[in-house]
Amino acid sequence: MLKHTALRTRQLRQAYDLMRAYFGHLQWWPGETPFEVCVGAILTQNTAWTNVEKALHQLKQAKALDPRKMYALPPAELAELIRPAGYFNIKTKRLRAFLKVLIEDFEGSLTKLMHGPTPLVRERLLAVNGIGPETADSMLLYASTHLSFVIDAYTKRIFSRHGWCAEDITYHDLQTICVNTLSQKAPDEQLDYWQDYHAQLVMIGKDYCRPKNPRCDTCPLQCLLPGKH
Ligand code: SF4
Repeated sequence: MLKHTALRTRQLRQAYDLMRAYFGHLQWWPGETPFEVCVGAILTQNTAWTNVEKALHQLKQAKALDPRKMYALPPAELAELIRPAGYFNIKTKRLRAFLKVLIEDFEGSLTKLMHGPTPLVRERLLAVNGIGPETADSMLLYASTHLSFVIDAYTKRIFSRHGWCAEDITYHDLQTICVNTLSQKAPDEQLDYWQDYHAQLVMIGKDYCRPKNPRCDTCPLQCLLPGKH
């Protein structure tokens, strides 16, 4: 059963405290530069992060982790470098679509591409072929300083199992719940809070809240399950 808004707010804030106490601060997203974060956000679509790491490693070895250098690569060469991330032909097209906008419209400067009010920059990213809401929000939140809460399949599964949202909730509606509920921090803490909140949910989703046989018995969010409080 879906929870009353006040109870859900209390539990969602408590959920962070429980995860944070359990995992510590996660220092996410893995990436040495904002550009690497953006490339990783595209490469991680439909694949595990371990595969993305291999592709990023190959890009670094080829000294191609730079907007202009990457855009100058023949597409077949880029596809070969990112092959470990899977769907490498589609992802090559997506990377090149992103690079085209970055280089041709913003002089290759991520700072310029990310400049402006969050809704405007978000629309800019969503207009790039192959960048959907999750990828755009990941770029906004982790490669820049835009407050754009990231929703993914883990978020939806964890939230619906706890009665915090319906199973078939849309990306937009679940993001609205998170924004309305988790905006209580001081301005200088808010960005880190949302970055780390999503990272904590990914840890829970990967290691505990699996599609089948969730490991509730040892999960730090067990005390927030319906009927446990
Ligand atoms: S594993 Fe169980 S306790 Fe943990 S988030 Fe999923 S449903 Fe909740």
